[in-house]
This record gives sequence, C-alpha cells and structure tokens, in this order.
Amino acid sequence: MSPRPHFLVLTFPFQGHIAPALRLARQLLAAAPDALVTFSTTEVAHRRMFPAKPNDGAKDSDEDGRLEFLPFSDGTEAGYVRSADLGSFNAYMASFHAAGARSAAEIVDALAARGRPVSRVVYTLLLPWAADVARDRGIPSALYWIQPVSVFAIYHHYFHSHAGVVADHLHDPSFVVEMPGLAPQPVGDLPSFLTDSTDPSNMFHSVFTTIRDLIETLDKESPRSTVLVNTCRELEVGALAAVGAHHDVLPVGPVLPSGGDAGIFKQDDDAKYMEWLDAKPANSVVYVSFGSLTTVAREHLEELLRGLEESGRPYLCVIRKDNKAALADAETKVDEELKNGIVVEWCDQVRVLSHAAVGCFVTHCGWNSVLESLAAGVPMVCVPRMSDQRTNAQLVVREWRVGVRAQVDDGGVLRAAEVRRCIDEAMGNLEAAAEVRRMAAEWKQVVTKAMGKGGSSDRNLMTFVDGARNAV
Ligand code: UDP
Repeated sequence: MSPRPHFLVLTFPFQGHIAPALRLARQLLAAAPDALVTFSTTEVAHRRMFPAKPNDGAKDSDEDGRLEFLPFSDGTEAGYVRSADLGSFNAYMASFHAAGARSAAEIVDALAARGRPVSRVVYTLLLPWAADVARDRGIPSALYWIQPVSVFAIYHHYFHSHAGVVADHLHDPSFVVEMPGLAPQPVGDLPSFLTDSTDPSNMFHSVFTTIRDLIETLDKESPRSTVLVNTCRELEVGALAAVGAHHDVLPVGPVLPSGGDAGIFKQDDDAKYMEWLDAKPANSVVYVSFGSLTTVAREHLEELLRGLEESGRPYLCVIRKDNKAALADAETKVDEELKNGIVVEWCDQVRVLSHAAVGCFVTHCGWNSVLESLAAGVPMVCVPRMSDQRTNAQLVVREWRVGVRAQVDDGGVLRAAEVRRCIDEAMGNLEAAAEVRRMAAEWKQVVTKAMGKGGSSDRNLMTFVDGARNAV
C-alpha cells in the first residue's frame, strides 16, 4: 500500500491567514479520506486557538487524528504586540523569518522521524522560507495565496516589470497603470505595500521585502511553482491567465468553514445576536465589521454609528475588544446610546452573513470577508484601508458590481452622511440598489457552483490532491 499523502500547512499567525489555512486543511482531508494534515502556526497563535491546552510542545488533534496541530516558534514569547514603536513590526518579522524557518524545519524532520513524513508543504503568503525548507528536503511545496489572484498578478507584474512606472507616479494616485490580464488600476488602489512600504523607514517595509522574496522564491522553483488560490476561476479569468503563464495556478476557493474552526478571537454569546437577527425582517439588517486587524479611532467610530443610526435600519456592528481598549476614552461605552443596533466584540461572521435578515455588509474588504459575503449573496459597502483591500474593493464594485465604494473625506474619515448614502445605494428602492442585489444573487450562484462537487474549484483541489498522492 502506498504511504498516505501528508500535507504540512504552515501559516502566518493572523486570523485572516489562519482561517483560510485551516479551512483548506479541512478540505484537503475531505478530498482525500486517507490524507493526513499537520497544521502549524506560531506558538502564541496556537495557544489562543486552544487556550485550555498545554503549550510546551503542544500537540492537539482532530478528525480522528488525521489533523494534527503542531506550533512552530517565531522566536518571541508574546508574538507581535502592537506598539507605538514604528520599527516593531519589522523587528517581529525578522525574528519570525529566522526562528520560523529553523523551527518549521525541525517539525518536518521530527515528523519524518516519527514515521509521519510530509509529502507536501503548503504555506500562506508571508513565509517564503517554507518553500526553502521543503526544497532542502526534497519535498514539493505549494504557496497558498489567500488574497485575490488579481493581487498576486499585481505583485508578479510589479516585481518583474512595473516597479518603475509605479515608483514614478507615487504622488499621483489617480495615474492609471496597465498590467497584463488586469483592469487598469489607479496607483492609489494598488496594494498599499507597493505604494506606502517601499521605503525602509515604513513600519510595514518587511511586508514589501517578504512579498518580493516570495515572488523570487516562486521563480526559483523548477519546473514551475504550484500556487493554490483562495478564489474561483469564474471570478478572475483575466488575472488567472496572466499568472498561469508562469506558474501552475489552481483556484480552489472560496474556501469556507466546514464547522468547528478554531480562531484566535473569543466569540460573543452567539445566542444573543442570532436571536436578535431572528427577530428582524429579511434583508433589513446592516452588518458592519472591519476584520481582525483594523482599529477604528473614536471620531471614525462616532461618525459610523451616527450614520448607521440615521440610516434608520437595524444594524449589527463588530467592535473588537482590543479596538474598544484602544479608544482614547475607553471608559465610555461605545454602545450606550444606540437605538437601532447592537454591538458585539466578535461574532461568527459566516453565520451572520448567511442569516436571511442581513441585507448588506459594511466591510473593510479583507479578502476573507469579501469571499464570505460573495458566497452568502450579500451586497457590500466597501471601506478599504490598506494591503489588498483597495484592489479588492475595485473587484467588488467594478468587476462584479456587487457593492458600493464609500468615499472618505480628506482626513480619511468616513462621514455619517456617506455611510447613509452607501447603505441606501445597496439596500434602498432605487434601480441601482436592485441591480447590486441582483448581481450579488447571481455571483452567489456562480461561487456556490464552483465550490460544489464537480465545480471548477473542487476539480482543482482534486488535481492538487491527486498530484500529491502520485508523488508519494
Ligand atoms: N470575523 C469573524 N467575526 C467577526 C469579525 C471577523 O469571524 O466578528 C472573521 C471573518 O469571518 C474573516 C476574518 O475574521 O474570516 C477576517 O479576515 P479578512 O480577510 O476579512 O480581514 P483581516 O482580518 O485579515 O483584515
């Protein structure tokens, strides 16, 4: 009998990376009933995922032992801790890269010594060294790109040919850049790491250099790199063709939870907000969340909540515990004057979005949020901030026409009147709103089909799993 395929899934310790990585891990197990998966993120994130478990070499398992959780070290005690020190993130990344590569290599070797050899390393986007660890041991690897393939294509073009034109127009955000396979992109909507972080003094410069290293690493693979992408073919045909000429790109998404996903945030009591939703009419509720990293300052929050109140619609708004703590006047309760809405610190977003009462999602356009909204057929109000979010908003508004883009004022504040206008454009009675809702329903069908048995993403995942099995 041939050995069982064994995937080692390595991921950066942010929620927006852990969630799609864990979802993919479970899909791999479902696609290959004999497969094993070892899921590995940093020790700090691991402890947050499994708070009750011991942390010294902690090992947890699931799915009858086919899924094992084995953390790697990032060389720190506390992981990345937000700080006013502009160099703190870059310092963390230096430690993450050096210690992470060492520790992940030890895990691969220990698994082999245990008679559980790894047959494929799958890694998310900020750890290019995972490919080196695998290559050094003769193990094939695959990048799991957890942003749109359009963003992957932008980075690919930038680091091969377009850095000059972008650099020349950094002070002209409306200048339009043409890249093969992509709709023309204003410089101001390119991923922020290409416009804001190229200078070593920028606090996220290490993300820029890591992505540069990643693109170089992929070019080194012979004969071609495998790139799994959390998207589906139907969503991004042109971008796929552009990068498909260089790498074996397999869209396998949207990869959604199949139950029991551990995360690094503690959820509010779901009975409370689900009951609240149950009592609301279909398509009446505005759901608001800016993901796991963005922090909303007090002035922004007050404008947002005022706009939501003035919209006259019920709303469910996520304000994370760490965001509340970061508000200047943390003593004032953010939710004490709300009439039409409720505030939670963390909810089961996929469940909320699929509730019939939810009619629109005010989102920062993190890619997981966009995919979850698309899969639920919920129109979006886009409030992008950084990273890939501006490009994602372009896709939502221009390519798929399932949302509206909110404009911020010169100080970057989303004003109450704009919140109201956008919600109306997505939920109101005008023809434009009806069109957004119709497109959202259409894309929901397309995405559901791609993910279903025999759909384009399902077939791509099987191709990947079969490749891993044949190579064992
Ligand atoms: N999320 C959640 N509950 C919340 C807010 C967010 O489960 O109250 C999840 C959401 O479903 C998504 C992730 O957190 O899977 C956020 O990822 P995304 O890529 O949208 O943004 P990021 O946090 O990376 O900025």
